[in-house]
Amino acid sequence: MKCPYCGHQEDRVLDSRTVKDGESIKRRRECLRCQGRFNTFEEIEERQLVVIKKDQSREPFDRRKILKGMSTACEKRPVSTEDLERAVDEIEMLFRSRPTREVSSREIGELVIEKLRELDQVAFVRFASVYWEFGDVEQFREVVNALSGRTPRPGKAREEGERAKLEEPSGRGRRSPAPGA
Ligand SMILES: [Zn+2]
Repeated sequence: MKCPYCGHQEDRVLDSRTVKDGESIKRRRECLRCQGRFNTFEEIEERQLVVIKKDQSREPFDRRKILKGMSTACEKRPVSTEDLERAVDEIEMLFRSRPTREVSSREIGELVIEKLRELDQVAFVRFASVYWEFGDVEQFREVVNALSGRTPRPGKAREEGERAKLEEPSGRGRRSPAPGA
């Protein structure tokens, strides 16, 4: 635990006790270099959220992954970091308010989709279309990153680029002079 006074990494624990009805542990520590004393609070293991993934493997809940997936979907869209943080807060608070510590990756994905639908239609469609096929926020991020690397269209917003590409075959004659000219 890094000393708040001198930054030294080694300390000794003077005292440990549980607080908040046993939900976290308070430790009184003393820095081995400057002898400064400080408190730390640690949530006990059982309080941490666990994500059950599609293949039934488990991993600790990490809100940064959700935030990354959402910001990838919102790339070049008018959605602020504050909006995204707030959406992730709401998702995390919802999970923390439940009696269970387990969260499925499907639940996370569906809540992300719901939040994006409120924030930005384009981000919502981007996320939903990729997510429903892959079922994992992390996978979504990887796939979108790979796709956006493959289709660079400088000087144009990506949606315009995509739309133009779709319309190219049939839209070629659109700029010809009006009939009779
Ligand atoms: Zn110190």
